[in-house]
Parts: sequence; C-alpha cells; structure tokens
Amino acid sequence: MSSFFNISEKITDASNRALKLCKEQFKYIEEITEYNQQKVLSAFIEFGVSDVHFNSSTGYGYGDVGRETLDKVWARVLGAEDALVRHNFTCGTHTLATALYGVLRPGHKMLCVTGTPYDTIHGVIGITGQGMGSLKDFGVIYDEVLLKDERLDYEAIESAVDDSVTMVYIQRSRGYELRPSLSVDEIEKVVELAKAKNPDVIVMVDNCYGEFVEKKEPTEVGADLIAGSMIKNAGGGIATTGGYIAGRADLIEKCAYRLTTPGLGKEVGATLGMNRELYMGLYYAPHTVGEALKSAVYIAALFESFGYDVTPKYNEVRHDIVQSLGLENEESLVAFCQGIQKGSPVDSFVLPEPWDMPGYDSKVVMAAGAFTLGSSIELSADAPIREPYYAWIQGGLNFHSAKVCAQLAAQSMLDKGLLK
Ligand SMILES: *Cc1c(COP(=O)(O)O)cnc(C)c1O
Repeated sequence: MSSFFNISEKITDASNRALKLCKEQFKYIEEITEYNQQKVLSAFIEFGVSDVHFNSSTGYGYGDVGRETLDKVWARVLGAEDALVRHNFTCGTHTLATALYGVLRPGHKMLCVTGTPYDTIHGVIGITGQGMGSLKDFGVIYDEVLLKDERLDYEAIESAVDDSVTMVYIQRSRGYELRPSLSVDEIEKVVELAKAKNPDVIVMVDNCYGEFVEKKEPTEVGADLIAGSMIKNAGGGIATTGGYIAGRADLIEKCAYRLTTPGLGKEVGATLGMNRELYMGLYYAPHTVGEALKSAVYIAALFESFGYDVTPKYNEVRHDIVQSLGLENEESLVAFCQGIQKGSPVDSFVLPEPWDMPGYDSKVVMAAGAFTLGSSIELSADAPIREPYYAWIQGGLNFHSAKVCAQLAAQSMLDKGLLK
C-alpha cells in the first residue's frame, strides 16, 4: 500500500501476487548484477582510476589521460583488446554507423544474419534512401539471412557465409520486434560457424540493450566488434550522451580513423568535462541494468496476471531489457502510456497523445519522463498505434519507482474501464 499514490485494491493485490512470482527471477538477476559489478569494479582498480581521470580537456584534447584510461577500462570489462568510448557519438545509430564505415570498404559484403536490422540502420546500409552517402552509395554490398520461426537459421547462415562475406552482422536485442533477443551463447555459435567457413570474417554485434544482462558480452565469445549507446544500458542512467565501440585493436583503430580522421584516430577529442559521468555511468551500469530487468520482470508478471499477452514472460531468461505488452486496442495503449508518464520523475504532468512521428508508418504514442532526453535506460514506453497493439517498455533507474509507475499505468487503464 502506498501513502502517496491512489492505487485501487485490485491493482495492489495483483501487485503483491506478481511480486511473489518474481522472486526467483529477481534472485537470478541479482546474481548477474553482483558478478558484473565485481567485473567493473576490478577494472577500475586495475587501471587505478583516480580524480585526475575526471579532468577536462579542450581544443585538440591531446594526451587526455582520462579519455585514454576510460577506453582501457571499458576494453577490460568487455573482454576486448581495445575500445573507443566517446561523448562525441550522438546516439546508438551514429556509433554503429561509425563502426560500419570504419571497417567496410567498396566491394566488401556485409551479411546481417538476424533478419532486417533495426529501423535507423536502414539508411546507413542503404536499404532505404539514396544518395545520402549510405554504405551502398559507396559500393558496400548488403545481404541478409532471415530468421526462421523467429530464431537464428544456423543452416542458412552456414551456407551464406563464404569468402565473399567481409562482415557478419548480428543484432543482439529484439529492438521493437516480437522475436526473442539473442543469448551470448547463440552469438558464440554464429561466431564459430562463420569463422569455420571464413576465418577472416569480421563478426560485428549491435549490442544495444544487451550490456550487463548476462555475465558475458559478445566480445568474450569471439565477436570482433561491438557497439552500443550510452543512454541505454552502457551509461548506467548517468551518462547524458555518447557511445562505445569495442573489439579487436586493429578494427578499433579504423573506427577511430572514421570518427576523427585517418592519421589522427584516438589521439584527439576534447572531453569537455564529460569523463566523470562516463566513468560513473559505467560504474553504475550493472546495477542500473539489474533494476531495469527487475522492472521488466515485474511488469510482465503484473500484466500477465490481468490477462494480457507479454513477451518475454516473467519467468523467462532475458537477453535484453525490452518488455512488450499486448494491450489489444488503441485506447488501452494510450491509457497505459499516460499512466507511465504520470509516474515519471520528470514531466509527470504531460499527457502523451498519439502523433505522426517522422519515419513511422503509423501514429505512435510514447511515454518518457527522463532526466536525459530520449534515454531508454530510464523507464519509457512506446507504442505504434497499429495491429497487434503492443507497447514496448524498457528501463527503470530504480525498481521501487518503476513499480509504482507500472501500477499507475494499470490504474490509468482501470479508471477508463479498460483494464481486464
Ligand atoms: C536503440 C537501438 C539502436 C539505435 O540507437 P539510437 O540511439 O536510437 O540511435 C540500434 N539498434 C538497437 C537494437 C537499438 O535498440
């Protein structure tokens, strides 16, 4: 029961039952959080992180020891040879694009083995748009292997990887699809299979939403290059912008040549006072991801108890932080998102409405009351207004806050007579 929020008994009763169901998953999540927290802490200690690393540089940013050490700490955490961690990456798409442009050359072939990738990557590859400088415009060939029954099609991957393939590209998270996300074990299987067919192939993983969900990262099982966003898992809810690329040292060098210029690479880049939050973000990331995972598990248990379709289920092992809820109609999607917004620490007074968002073919309703604009490690929900009327929810900086927020979402539906 809450002394601060009006939540009806139907919902608090369901919440208490849901919490009981979550116990086992919570224990499992806590074990992973503890393991990853130790992994991160030991890297901080190994590289002697100190307040000099939080100093700011301006201009060219030569010899910024904070920036250089941050790359080393990140590389250690991810089990990679090197890393490129920069606030200059404007978003996840920019980070992924830098890695792709960094290593692919005219005539090279990129093979995505997880079906068509995340929407914002289409313009980078050249699946959509022409003449904007996509990889395709520069003569990079693209092909994909479709998923089979929503899972990796190992046989088709094996036959598609030959000497003509330069890069095998994997998207770990489901993004905004209903397919399951990939486990690191599944990624390892693709690495083995691909390298057996072509030992020179570069395996790259879009690691967005996947960091610290498992004990291992793709770079620990043979992926050559991974990338992600600092306003998702990797920034721990503390970093306010940026991205990271990690992997083989020779490939990271090429990515740095792309981010800055050939020759300059990692040597330049003023940090402008951003180092401290990037360090602190990494330090918090395992814990914050744990809170986000608990929030997702709880939301799954609660809404399944009301009779809605949820994926993943509360008791399924997770490989990313994304949760989807089948809310069955437009009115419920809108009421749900409005309730999530009401329980947000920032902009709680805003009433989200469906709108025609650029780049989408249907209206979308979104709830986001975050300290960092667009941050999706903070509790947020998006729902395209179309069949099958699913809402995608992710994040939660702390479970207790996310819990009441989920109850307010259910309350918002109940108040409109929509809750099953
Ligand atoms: C979020 C995301 C991206 C793109 O990141 P932005 O920060 O939105 O540009 C790419 N791939 C996946 C799987 C994502 O979840």
